[in-house]
Amino acid sequence: MSSELTIKRIAIFGSTGSIGTQALDVIEANPDLFSAEVLTAHHNDELLIEQALKFNPNVVVIGDEKKYAKVKEALASTDVKVFAGEKALEEVASMDCYDFMLAAIVGYAGLKPTLKAIENGKIIGLANKETLVVAGDIVMRKAVEYRVPIIPIDSEHSAIFQCLVGETRNKIEKVILTASGGPFIGRKPNYLVNVKREHALQHPNWTMGAKITIDSATLMNKGLEMIEAKWLFNLKPEQVQVVIHPQSIIHSMVQFEDGSIKAQMGLPDMKLPIQYALAFPKRIKNDFPRYDFKKINTLSFEEPDVKTFRNLGLAIDALNKGGNLPCVMNAANEIAVYAFLRNRINFLDMTDVIEKAMQSIPFIANPTLEEYFESDGEARNFAADLIKL
Ligand code: NAD
Ligand code: MG
Repeated sequence: MSSELTIKRIAIFGSTGSIGTQALDVIEANPDLFSAEVLTAHHNDELLIEQALKFNPNVVVIGDEKKYAKVKEALASTDVKVFAGEKALEEVASMDCYDFMLAAIVGYAGLKPTLKAIENGKIIGLANKETLVVAGDIVMRKAVEYRVPIIPIDSEHSAIFQCLVGETRNKIEKVILTASGGPFIGRKPNYLVNVKREHALQHPNWTMGAKITIDSATLMNKGLEMIEAKWLFNLKPEQVQVVIHPQSIIHSMVQFEDGSIKAQMGLPDMKLPIQYALAFPKRIKNDFPRYDFKKINTLSFEEPDVKTFRNLGLAIDALNKGGNLPCVMNAANEIAVYAFLRNRINFLDMTDVIEKAMQSIPFIANPTLEEYFESDGEARNFAADLIKL
């Protein structure tokens, strides 16, 4: 067989983001293993054009339809197909020009294209945790139905996934998600009420997109990840725990029924879980910086402060109650984060908006996909009205 035939053809949905650009670095470093065949961006036409000229994909999608003509013209001398608009994401996810979808769009917008890729039988590398928070039961059921592997890219879930290799016969007692604690670890509400977006956007250990950086500062990110873990690894809510680990060296752990705990460790660098998912089940040699036990010689652990970081408490509530509650919470959170990033509400207001939406939107125990879409819309409208967006 020629090596051409074994090249994995990758579709990066959200190629201009933090995960997307790092995935392209991994692809560029391994041209004999991977090719980029689909690239999508929401607004950033310039970076999308630059990426398309460099990687020569089969298709690109620009979300913002006003930018279609510009992208089309810039790629006129190539044979790259250009699509625009939200619907095009689903159409392209249904194409045959790729083998592996890297779901790296941020937020609820990632759900529909990912569902289409599953129905199209493609392997999913999942960075977009909101997909599982919104409709985890339906997504996981569909993945089983279409025999599609979902390989996590979120560092905690990649860690758990790596700890589970070779353990198919063994039951998990619990998983322990590590959390850095974000930039405001140890702070109290009287401090948090005054923090500004610039401050909240400074994460101590990771450089990421704006939404997940704010979610990390409020600890909502860890709450979303608890729900993500429940669906990915088929766990009961009480089997998912969180521990604060400020150094971000242990990326998460699995405790088995004999009490033994496995951890996956390394320096915080998203390229590693991205590369692991792309190449799974193989590991590829790389020259990323290595963890040195002499340089970072203390690993510490503490309980999360759910009294101060109330978003984590709300997410645990949503995890326990299930139904459409995680979907409602996620939608209200997306609106609240958007408003905070535009200086429309303060840091603590975000929690109030989410809590009120969770109390107000009618609970549905076993929603259909349509009902998830409706709950998402209702919660968004409710939150936007409350903030007067
Ligand atoms: P980002 O904001 O840097 O990038 C988001 C990408 O999605 C961009 O390409 C953007 O064009 C596209 N996009 C945004 N809104 C869209 C919409 N409405 N429709 C279509 N495309 C849209 O985000 P990111 O930090 O790369 O995160 C992407 C996802 O990965 C998130 O779900 C995040 O939680 C998850 N994740 C990120 C990291 C990280 O280190 N950045 C780590 C773990 C998980
Ligand atoms: Mg994570």
